Amino acid sequence: MRILIVEDEAELATRLVANLARHDMTCEWLACAEDAKSFALEKFDALVIDLGLPGMSGLELIRYLRGEKVHTPILIFTARSSWQEKVAGLNAGADDYLVKPVHVEELAARLRALARRAAGHLQDRLTCGALALDPAEKQVYVDEVPVTVTGSEYRLLLMFMYRPRQIFSAADILDQLYALDEERDANTVEVLVGRLRRKIGRDRIVTLRGLGYRLQA
Ligand code: CA
Repeated sequence: MRILIVEDEAELATRLVANLARHDMTCEWLACAEDAKSFALEKFDALVIDLGLPGMSGLELIRYLRGEKVHTPILIFTARSSWQEKVAGLNAGADDYLVKPVHVEELAARLRALARRAAGHLQDRLTCGALALDPAEKQVYVDEVPVTVTGSEYRLLLMFMYRPRQIFSAADILDQLYALDEERDANTVEVLVGRLRRKIGRDRIVTLRGLGYRLQA
């Protein structure tokens, strides 16, 4: 899962980025709403937006993004538990909110729920043909038999399972696996897809020449 965090408290943001990585979420972080206006148009599974930002406020950013027809789920952070702020955020187009201080387990669970609903899944457990993935257990099954996968194989499969009919380019996959400031190697994608194919079945990931990869039910 790829998440954008817009939060001006550097210490909090850095902690969230590190902790959400343990929940298989690759996070990009921006401290200013103005910068997020164009960046949020990229492919993210969810946006986390602090309402109290210097300059353009979180509320204005949400109104702007919804005006630009950005459908990505938005979770807002509110510093106070003022109900008016939450209502204004939800009315502006946010889907959920958390009051600071934030527990990362709760944040991760809410982000997963938002991304899941946005992708049209009713349950946490994802299935596609003989494949199943349980995000709570972090376990992959083929024909109900548990299969052991590495962290990056798991994150790759999670991405495919959320959107089984979507074609993912190598660039999309790199964005899902690595933050933009991390070192990237385009060969990683082919190697990783190859490794995952050996574990879940060769035909379950299709290569579409020049376009990318897609999960096959
Ligand atoms: Ca703030």
